[in-house]
Amino acid sequence: MKFEELTSAEPDEPDLLANEISHLEASTHTMMIDDSHQNHQNQEQQGQEPHLVPHMQPSNTPTTCRKISSSGCQINLNTFHLQRTLGTGSFGRVHLVQSKFNQKFYALKVLKKADVVRSKQVEHTRNERSILMSISHPFLINLWDTFQDDANLYMVMDYVPGGELFSVLRKSKRFSENIARFYAAEVLLGLVYLHNKDIIYRDLKPENILLDSEGNIKITDFGFAKHVVDVTWTLCGTPDYLAPEIIQSKGYGKPADYWSFGVLIYEMLVGSAPFYDENQFKLYEKIVACKPVYPSYFSASAKDLLSHLLTKDLSNRFGNLKRGCSDIIEHPWFQPMDFEKLIHRKITPPYIPKLQGEGDTSNFDKYPEETVPYGLAQADPHRHLFPEF
Ligand code: AMP
Repeated sequence: MKFEELTSAEPDEPDLLANEISHLEASTHTMMIDDSHQNHQNQEQQGQEPHLVPHMQPSNTPTTCRKISSSGCQINLNTFHLQRTLGTGSFGRVHLVQSKFNQKFYALKVLKKADVVRSKQVEHTRNERSILMSISHPFLINLWDTFQDDANLYMVMDYVPGGELFSVLRKSKRFSENIARFYAAEVLLGLVYLHNKDIIYRDLKPENILLDSEGNIKITDFGFAKHVVDVTWTLCGTPDYLAPEIIQSKGYGKPADYWSFGVLIYEMLVGSAPFYDENQFKLYEKIVACKPVYPSYFSASAKDLLSHLLTKDLSNRFGNLKRGCSDIIEHPWFQPMDFEKLIHRKITPPYIPKLQGEGDTSNFDKYPEETVPYGLAQADPHRHLFPEF
C-alpha cells in the first residue's frame, strides 16, 4: 500500500454533504462496498462512445493457442517455477514465474478462493477473467490462461518488468507536461478501446499502470472492470480517484473513467491527487463540492482539458459529449502527440526501465512471501463458483 493512509480519520461535524457521503466507509485504497444494484436501468444521459478511432487497432493480438506448456493448453502450478512476489493487491498477490517448457517469464496472479468469497468478489473475479480473455490491446495487460487448485485461483499474464508508473512518478515527484502527455495518451487509447467494447475499467491510478521493457504502458488489475452498456451502481475504486457521481450513489458509467483519467493527469503534473485530504470524509466532500486548484505552472491547455474532465457536470464532461473521445484526443493539450505512431509504439517513451535480463525484478518493491504453500490438496467448497478457471 503506497498511497498515504486514508483510513483512520473520524468524520468532522456533519455538514451539508454529510447525507450524500454517509454511506461511504472509510476504506483501504482500493475499495468495494456493494454490488447489489447492478441491474438498474439507465437514469442518466450517457454519451455513446462513437468508434472514432477505428484505425487505432492493437497490433499485438496474441496467438490463439496459448502455448505456455508443452502439453497444449493444460497448464497448472507444475508448469512453472514459482519466484518472488512482485506485488500485492487488495484481494491477492502476483508472482514472477518461469515456464518450465518455454523458459519465458510470466506474472502469476494468485487469489485465495476463500478470501474472494469472504470479500464478496466472486462476480468481480469472474468479470476480471472474462474481460481479460476478451481483450487485446498494446496498452492493456495480456492474460494467457487461468487455472485453479483446491484453495486458489491463478491467472497467467505477461510479465511487465518495468514496474509501476507510481514508482517512477514518486521518484520524479512530478512529470513535465510532455512526459505526462505520453503516459496519458497511452492510457487514453486503452480506455477508448475498453469503452468501445462497453467495458468500464473503474480503477485507474498510477499503481495499476505498469511499464514494459521499452517504457510503454500496460494497464493491469481488471478486478473492477465490468461490461456495462448503460450505468452501474457498485461503489468501488480508489478514494482519490472516485468520480463524484460514484460517491453520490448515482448510477454511473464510462464518464467515471474519464473523471479518473483527469485525476491521473493532474497527479502526474502535480505529484498528488487534486482533492487529496488525509481525512477521507473531507476527501469525498471536496470531490463532490470543490473545484481543483491548478498551480501556476500549468499550461492554459492543460487547465482547459482538466477542467473538462474534472467537472461534476456530466453534460459537460469530455468523453461524455457528442464527439465522445475525440474531444480529448483532438484537444490542444494532445496536439503534439501523434496517436497513430503511438498505437504502433513508434514513439520513444520518456523513461526506459533499466533491466538486466528477462526475469529482472529490480523495478518492483520487495514483499513478504506467502507462508502457505500453493497446491495443497484440501476440501474445496468454492470450486463451483469459478467454473471458467
Ligand atoms: P493486482 O492485484 O492485479 O493489482 O497486482 C498487484 C501488483 O502486482 C501490481 O500493482 C503490480 O505491482 C504487480 N503486477 C500485477 N500484474 C503484473 C504483471 N503482469 N507484471 C508485473 N507485475 C505485475
